[in-house]
Amino acid sequence: MTRTPDLNVDVAILGAGAAGMFVALAAQARGLRVALIEPQAHLPNNFAISGGLFPAAGSALQRSAGITDSPEAWLDDLRLFAPGMVNEHIAQAVAQALPAATAFLVEGCQAPIVFLADVVAPGHSQKRFHCVTPASGAALHAWFRQACTHQPRIQWVDQRAEVQRGPHGFELQAGAQLIGAAQLVLAGGGFGGNTEMVARFIPGMAGALHNGSATQDGSVLSLGLAWGAQLWGMDGYQGQGHTNPGGVTRLGMSIPTLGGVMVNRQGQRFVAEDMGPSALAPHVLAQPGGQALEVFDAAIEAQLGNHGAYQQALQAGCVLTHDSLEGLAALACVNAQGLAQTLAQVAQMSQGQGRDALGRQRFVRALSSPFKASWVTGALSHTQGGLLTRPDGAVLHQSGQVMPGVFAVGGCAAGLSGRGAEGYLPGNGLAQSFGLGWNVAQALA
Ligand SMILES: Cc1cc2nc3c(=O)[nH]c(=O)nc-3n(C[C@H](O)[C@H](O)[C@H](O)COP(=O)(O)OP(=O)(O)OC[C@H]3O[C@@H](n4cnc5c(N)ncnc54)[C@H](O)[C@@H]3O)c2cc1C
Repeated sequence: MTRTPDLNVDVAILGAGAAGMFVALAAQARGLRVALIEPQAHLPNNFAISGGLFPAAGSALQRSAGITDSPEAWLDDLRLFAPGMVNEHIAQAVAQALPAATAFLVEGCQAPIVFLADVVAPGHSQKRFHCVTPASGAALHAWFRQACTHQPRIQWVDQRAEVQRGPHGFELQAGAQLIGAAQLVLAGGGFGGNTEMVARFIPGMAGALHNGSATQDGSVLSLGLAWGAQLWGMDGYQGQGHTNPGGVTRLGMSIPTLGGVMVNRQGQRFVAEDMGPSALAPHVLAQPGGQALEVFDAAIEAQLGNHGAYQQALQAGCVLTHDSLEGLAALACVNAQGLAQTLAQVAQMSQGQGRDALGRQRFVRALSSPFKASWVTGALSHTQGGLLTRPDGAVLHQSGQVMPGVFAVGGCAAGLSGRGAEGYLPGNGLAQSFGLGWNVAQALA
């Protein structure tokens, strides 16, 4: 005899990260009953360790800051950054959805989201990032967790669930509790923490440092795969070329765009540093010892007061400081003469004298005392490939048909762009989680 579920909901969501919590909030706002299943709430997920910065080109907050921008301009940046590698239908849908998704958080949920007016992120032609204050994933995640906890239509379930598909929906066995759900949202993140899946889908990063969350075991993505879902872009990932060795802290993506440079042990530059943190990762890993020294100054540091990732690295003692360049070189054990020559060239190029052989277009300013530096390496932050969906998040079967009632979003679902590390434009992760999440929530019945 079939057992009657202990709880019946309109939608069960596997995973309470950026994507799952966004869908839960937006679905409950439409009056839907939600079971939010999160077996690892005690661990920081990728949302909690992210920079918490997301683009929303054309948002009301951006307009109020006097910036003229549009979803189309963001899409043009994405296509220029990742030529031939854009998941077009999804990227277009996400671009269009982000202003509404942001308005929902700000006006519908009173989220304390602000427009980040200080930095143009690498690869973006306009200031279009949003965050909370201070700008950190931990702070944004904490707000979402609090908001979801206080919604009576959202039921938290802190057990791993076994999922069965039935003729009228889904049955989820979570510990002793049986949950019946009409629809299912796969939002369990990517597979960056699953060494076998990384070796299979991104062999070039097998064994590389993973600075994402241990919760990224690919289990929810694998569920969709076992049901016959199509995959897209499985070799795409966000690299992180500003990760402090060990992977606990990172500098954030803004130092190069503010004028910082990177050198190897010879004190020599090796890359156009402002290419974006993801594409940068393999270049850093190619240096002796797989590390590089990021060099900047106190004036740049002064602009990073609201940047949570940098502040954590600073507090962890990862930033070296000295009044003289020779002193800084000695502290970091890099070639002092090489470093001095490099910074002299950078000073000239910042005055418009000479062209950079490495192709960097903009040096902003000459670095000056007190000097700062921090060792960094390349890491795999999070994977971009996943279950192929329609623009409303409905998962597509290998037959080309929609899988009835199954949606995917966030790291589980195919990302916006990319093969390898090159195609990840900063902000793609949360943009997809919130933009596609908005569409999923509107499509749920
Ligand atoms: C170091 C770092 C910095 C980043 N910075 C940025 C940034 O500044 N801007 C940006 O746009 N993106 C950034 N990202 C990417 C961003 O964090 C992700 O794109 C986003 O968190 C994806 O959301 P998600 O919900 O899919 O995954 P997560 O936020 O990781 O949530 C997935 C959840 O699913 C749960 N889960 C796993 N397995 C199961 C299961 N079997 N059943 C139920 N639940 C399960 C996990 O415990 C987890 O809580 C960064 C990522 C990293 C690692």
